[in-house]
Amino acid sequence: MSEYPDLQLYINGSWRKTSDGLPVINPATEEEIGRVPVAQASDLDDALEAANEGFKIWSRTSPKARADLIREASALMRERQGEIAHSITLEHGKPFTEAQLEVIRGCEFFEWDAGEATRTYGRVIPSGPGVKYIVHHQPIGPVASFSPWNFPMSQPARKVAGALASGCSIILKAAEETPAGAMHIAQAFHDVGLPPGVLNLVFGIPADISEHLIPSEVVKLVAFTGSTAVGRLLTGMASNHMTPVLMELGGHAPVIVCEDTDVEAAATSSAIRKMRNAGQVCTSPTRFFVHRNIYDHFLEIFTKRAEEIPVGDGMDAATQMGPLANDRRLSTMTSLVADAQEAGATLMTGGNRIGDKGYFFEPTVLANVPNDARVMQEEPFGPLAIVNPVSSLDHAIERANSVPYGLAAYGFTNRADYADRMVDMIEAGNLSINTLEASLPETPFGGVKSSGYGREGGAEGLQCYTVVKNVSHSVGIV
Ligand code: NAD
Repeated sequence: MSEYPDLQLYINGSWRKTSDGLPVINPATEEEIGRVPVAQASDLDDALEAANEGFKIWSRTSPKARADLIREASALMRERQGEIAHSITLEHGKPFTEAQLEVIRGCEFFEWDAGEATRTYGRVIPSGPGVKYIVHHQPIGPVASFSPWNFPMSQPARKVAGALASGCSIILKAAEETPAGAMHIAQAFHDVGLPPGVLNLVFGIPADISEHLIPSEVVKLVAFTGSTAVGRLLTGMASNHMTPVLMELGGHAPVIVCEDTDVEAAATSSAIRKMRNAGQVCTSPTRFFVHRNIYDHFLEIFTKRAEEIPVGDGMDAATQMGPLANDRRLSTMTSLVADAQEAGATLMTGGNRIGDKGYFFEPTVLANVPNDARVMQEEPFGPLAIVNPVSSLDHAIERANSVPYGLAAYGFTNRADYADRMVDMIEAGNLSINTLEASLPETPFGGVKSSGYGREGGAEGLQCYTVVKNVSHSVGIV
């Protein structure tokens, strides 16, 4: 297995080093494993120029040829699955098997969007003799994309897949904390011969990069995945230039557990799913609203299953939950737990850092959390579950909708009328009933309310990357 990659910028088809860099830390050991380059204004100007030129080539490349090249790059990434997963575990901390699955998921995003490239159908509007009205969906232009650190490969994959499948060029600023996944993506596209300038990868000081790229006339779409606060900031900047945005932002997913459900199965799968990626997932199931009649039983099983999850270095085969990805998350978790306890919540298990080396945190379950505790409104983005009792489905729905977020939501029930009510009443872009899977490459993913705008994946996934052009064509001059 290869070592951690030599981190570089990728601009106009070439790798580029900068003089100094920021440290990349292995969150399991707190050791420096690499240095990520910091793009300067001149690098960003070069990336803009390259993306502008790249767009001219790529937007005129046939959808079939684009799809073929994306599939070729994806096949390379599948071959390199072990190497990519290894660097993800080193920089992010997640278990190696989870990192391997993430690589496959990233490839599936590429493969799905490659198919969609050849299905961006327009339509023909009925017209009279000698006249045709035809609606086209054309690539919007160069995209400035920003991807986060929680899924170092599949998050940038979503962004690159959408842009490239649509015929757009892209400047991707991937997360500085976890740069290797995006590096591998750029390497795969380089190796299959993507024309220079179509994909550009930069790292650096996030605010400097967004403030340089977003106001540029070259950039025709801003795509971001990350916190609602930063999403709001970037949307504000983009709106000053009438540049549209694709925003996949925070969530605080509710889970409604109805009294008719299989309590043991629901509690077991919920506890395991909650701790996946150490809870650092925007769709992570977090606020459990459980019917009173089954509350104690659910809480007992959920707590026991959470306690049983082995926490450790992601390179250790026994590990099911790695460390938190950075020390910011550690302090956030500690303060959210303390605040909830002060507000009157019961700490069922966890709540503490594990050891003093690495950012390990215990799987944590809070019960009977009052509505005014911070964690009821703030996304914990960590291995923390809130389990509260409710008296009815209406009560649960009211609680579920009581936050500004609306990304993913879940329900456990066998009753058709309960499921039907959830479908109608829950405010979320994604609702999953009797499953904790929130999104697949073939399903549209995105939020409502403060969770964002636009969709990735599914048949809707390329809409933000295209613009509609209506062509009216008369045979004779009228
Ligand atoms: P943060 O808000 O500081 O940063 C989130 C991301 O935005 C990072 O990748 C960062 O590089 C980028 N960013 C920050 N400021 C930026 C700027 N001015 N211009 C461009 N990019 C900028 O938060 P954080 O501490 O890194 O992560 C914690 C929070 O982020 C979580 O609570 C969660 O809400 C959110 N988050 C969401 C997702 C998701 O999948 N939706 C992923 C990661 C983080």
